[in-house]
Amino acid sequence: MLKEPESESDIDKLIYHSRRQLGDKGHVLVWVYKQLCPKCKKSLMGKPREKGKVKIRAKEYICPSCSYTVEKKEYEESLTADIKYTCPHCGFKGEASIPYKRKNIEGIPTLRAKCSKCEGNIDITKKMKEKKGQADTEDDD
Ligand SMILES: [Zn+2]
Ligand SMILES: [Zn+2]
Repeated sequence: MLKEPESESDIDKLIYHSRRQLGDKGHVLVWVYKQLCPKCKKSLMGKPREKGKVKIRAKEYICPSCSYTVEKKEYEESLTADIKYTCPHCGFKGEASIPYKRKNIEGIPTLRAKCSKCEGNIDITKKMKEKKGQADTEDDD
């Protein structure tokens, strides 16, 4: 069983989370945990801050303890996206863990999981705007 993030402090440990309706009956909840710095293992890697504010469009992630820096894409693609879904095709409720790696599907960056029952696609497309409070988890580059 995947551990769904619930509290505020859980949300702080996420690099991305989103909740979507898929068609009429489908539903998906996706979240991605940050990783500890691979170098010092003291802090979670995060986007750099400037004057206390997160630089949303930063192209790298930085460790707040030792300043170790990793390129954004390289870091994100090493993470795992955990997904809880209600399949929009067959209504099956399931879970999946897939690499946090978006593919270009019909011109839209998409995280694609598959239903473990009917093998239908469960697509989590990138949104250009998320609700306030989630804005730092997705940008439009
Ligand atoms: Zn570090
Ligand atoms: Zn299905």
